Amino acid sequence: MKITVFKNYGYCWGVKRAVDIAVKELNDLESAYILGPIIHNPNTNDKLKKDGLKIVSSLAEVPDGSVFFFPSHGISKIDEELAVKKSLRTISLICPFVIKIEQLAIDYEKKGYKVIIYGDPLHTEVKSMVSRLNNAQVIKDEEGVKSLELHPKMLYISQSTQNRDVFYSIFSRLAAAFEWRELVGRFTICQDTFERQDWMATHIADFEFFIIVGGHQSSNTKKLVEIADLHKKKSVHIEKWNPSVWDMVKGLNNIAVISGTSTNKEDVDEVVNEIKGRLTQDGNNAGIYYA
Ligand code: SF4
Repeated sequence: MKITVFKNYGYCWGVKRAVDIAVKELNDLESAYILGPIIHNPNTNDKLKKDGLKIVSSLAEVPDGSVFFFPSHGISKIDEELAVKKSLRTISLICPFVIKIEQLAIDYEKKGYKVIIYGDPLHTEVKSMVSRLNNAQVIKDEEGVKSLELHPKMLYISQSTQNRDVFYSIFSRLAAAFEWRELVGRFTICQDTFERQDWMATHIADFEFFIIVGGHQSSNTKKLVEIADLHKKKSVHIEKWNPSVWDMVKGLNNIAVISGTSTNKEDVDEVVNEIKGRLTQDGNNAGIYYA
């Protein structure tokens, strides 16, 4: 069996940065709080919980004066202000790319543009952006274009981990709806997310089966699953190695392994090694390639 692994696997630079800061800070602290998971990777969150990270669902659960991490994809303005009121010592784990998108939107708004965001209205990153803008409109897909309120000048951007094909498709619909108005589109899907989607879409026909490794709540991992579904390609989405995957791939000749931006290298290596081990046990060859 030939097993091809997308070569840029492991954490993206924004996630790596967030985890490195958290690990370093927790070394010197008894505990620190964070609103929601640090990243959408249950395995990493569990490890950090053992080091003293306490994941809460509301700031009301954080004792005054505690250490508080801002999660990697942002925090709403209300919660940021509440953290100040509660005298929390805050440490930002927010990805610089997320901050850059937010600043871009704020700058355009100051120039008189209304902002359209393609993203999940319930995702932290989108909630954070919306909380810092006046009347930003969020759409989840192409259908959302119909319900938009149009203004003479509009900026179209995206949550950093959305689907690049849907981004372009929304943009062409907007362009058609925007005759006689000014529409600026800025591609704000981050490079790490884009590269994974691009590789998968380009090579979709090259493999019999895709193993997609990443958190079930991870936005960018879910986009990889969408690509497989769109192309009716057989695939499985797992958070880490699961023996049932062997039943799905044994007997196949050519499979691919790809992971989300918050999946660590060890989880991907484990999947590859488990399959390789079973092939060897059965007297079969395993060729591992990184492409
Ligand atoms: S996925 Fe992109 S935006 Fe999100 S943390 Fe990684 S680099 Fe930053």
